[in-house]
Amino acid sequence: MPILDEKLGDIYDEVLRRNPGEDEFHQAVREVLDSLGPVVAKHPEYTDAAVIRRLCEPERQIIFRVPWVDDSGAVRINRGFRVEFNSALGPYKGGLRFHPTVYLGIVKFLGFEQIFKNSLTGMPIGGGKGGSDFDPKGRSDGEVMRFCQAFMTELYRHIGEHTDVPAGDIGVGGREIGYLFGQYKRITNRYESGVLTGKGLTWGGSQVRTEATGYGTVFFVEEMLKVRGDSFDGKKVVVSGSGNVAIYAAEKVRQLGGTVIACSDSNGYVVDEHGIDLDLLKEVKEKRRARISTYAETRSGARYVEGGSVWDVPCDIALPCATQNELNGRDAAVLIDNGCAIVAEGANMPCTPDAVRLFAEAGVLFAPGKAANAGGVATSALEMQQNASRDSWSFDHTERRLADIMHGIHDRCLEAADRYGKPGNYLAGANIAGFIQVADAMLALGV
Ligand code: GLU
Repeated sequence: MPILDEKLGDIYDEVLRRNPGEDEFHQAVREVLDSLGPVVAKHPEYTDAAVIRRLCEPERQIIFRVPWVDDSGAVRINRGFRVEFNSALGPYKGGLRFHPTVYLGIVKFLGFEQIFKNSLTGMPIGGGKGGSDFDPKGRSDGEVMRFCQAFMTELYRHIGEHTDVPAGDIGVGGREIGYLFGQYKRITNRYESGVLTGKGLTWGGSQVRTEATGYGTVFFVEEMLKVRGDSFDGKKVVVSGSGNVAIYAAEKVRQLGGTVIACSDSNGYVVDEHGIDLDLLKEVKEKRRARISTYAETRSGARYVEGGSVWDVPCDIALPCATQNELNGRDAAVLIDNGCAIVAEGANMPCTPDAVRLFAEAGVLFAPGKAANAGGVATSALEMQQNASRDSWSFDHTERRLADIMHGIHDRCLEAADRYGKPGNYLAGANIAGFIQVADAMLALGV
């Protein structure tokens, strides 16, 4: 780890002290602080006005009980969270994650990342995140509905189209957003479309929102390739995960001439040298909600590897699209040995600090999630625009807007990296560009 200067070091120590045991949050803060040395050297006003210290403390943290009744009639209790991290640029915006690993530290890491990501999009959205330790796996549709209704029965009082606008994340897709929105509407008697994003197309949703995170990541990589006179044509790509982000990243890679040869779930991975069959993958994951092993059982020539690491599969471009800290130092070393040239994060913080350091040392181009996966939240902001104007745009128009936004983020990263003496460093550029916009707004708005 690089040594932080004295002021940033003190801020980091304070974060460790105030948030004991929240490892993922510490990691996310550290990664940003590591990039800010040249910024605070040039602009002492940011440390003088305690902007960074204020940024590290959420504006509001809500923790609530979620009681619901399962199919056997038993009462279950889960814990719900909403961390409203920063509203300098707009209403809090960020997804909800339903996964058994969710605790305050995960929600805070995601909310913290979201501040910089949302700032990078150039759109008027602040940063927040929420979720629950509820595990949707193996739950019936009725159980999921009752859980979502119970969750919203508390959450509704904290959100609103001008206040806080949740969306999906791991474990929360179109079905859950539907149940959540239905309950919000029922309780408030308001058809307030802009209170949630990721809605269905017939009730206020936006074209391309489902595809946006995956497509956006690939648009970002397309730009990284383009500035180097290269393209996806003929590139071998490995995508981890097989959820929404992975599926649509794979779809866009194929449209741009690359071949996705492997993807995974938490049990193992499949290798399909002819290119992953996306119709089959969608059928297995979206319709049947089955394991990725089912893909290999159905498709001749595909190989399923139980356990192990999908990063052992040699590729030109790696797109980690599963979850935090899924790609470690060992995986990075294997990817580097196998000649991988670009890693772009479709998930939030999927690469460990060790992996990121190894990529930098080996000259592998690395695009951090807060830049590369910002297409999801950017398209959520487009959904909010459509809701506010009671309009709905075509797929092509929305996709063009997404592509422009991703190109803008790419250029903003490179420009900030250049200006602060880190040419070509997307990680530093993303942290610096994302930070400066929020910090300037915080200065303007006063303490
Ligand atoms: N959960 C997504 C993210 O990590 C999307 C959030 C949103 O659309 O508000 O950015």
